[in-house]
Amino acid sequence: AERPYIVGNWKMNGTRAMLSEARAIDRASQRYMKVEVALAPPFTLIHAVGREVEQIGVGAQDCHAEPDGAHTGDISATMALDAGAKFVILGHSERRENHDESDALIAKKMAAAFDAGLRVILCCGESAETREAGRAEEFVLGQLRASLPELTDPQQQLTVAYEPIWAIGTGKVPTAGDITAMHGAIRGVLKERYGADNAEAIRILYGGSVKADNAREILDLPDVDGALVGGASLTAENFLGIVLAAV
Ligand code: 13P
Repeated sequence: AERPYIVGNWKMNGTRAMLSEARAIDRASQRYMKVEVALAPPFTLIHAVGREVEQIGVGAQDCHAEPDGAHTGDISATMALDAGAKFVILGHSERRENHDESDALIAKKMAAAFDAGLRVILCCGESAETREAGRAEEFVLGQLRASLPELTDPQQQLTVAYEPIWAIGTGKVPTAGDITAMHGAIRGVLKERYGADNAEAIRILYGGSVKADNAREILDLPDVDGALVGGASLTAENFLGIVLAAV
């Protein structure tokens, strides 16, 4: 894809004290229009971050599969949209693990997100055990095949993020060869599902211990169209180092 996409996932971090980081990220990103930059703050900050920023995208980290109803503590896709989100991250391994989210549930959440008019960043990725057993590709492609829906405008609606679980927050990163192979295989599934033109245009992000000092090497790999960044997205200084590597 033409325009690299760098997305910060703040996870369960951030109070209003962090709005200044969002503003700094936004202001600096205005100088790098070649890069699409976005932040996914916690739900409680979506509206406030949306008011701080002019250029960058704002999204949510999850949404419920139902449009409304008796689901105490949950947030619907429409609510996230109403708060200012333009996209939602779905299927993050932390949701899959901590909240027992299945591919089937993630497929339902995707449908809810698209119905509400949100774009989706769909996460996939294998555990260390699965990789050691030589089954990483089979596992990740299985996740995708089980959750990718029919789409009216796949290029606009969908981004895929490959995040090996063992690389998240650990400082470990797969080899260049392993990232390239997995992203190529993911592109293959997108081709099966949406056709060659769409598959080429859908962005495939890498996530897992991306930092300013390894970002350029990762972003230069074939089929890597951007990064989904956790820890290093929490300060403007660290995150902008990654944005700069994408320019
Ligand atoms: P880290 O960048 O902290 O490894 O997290 C990656 C991630 O899970 C982003 O969604």
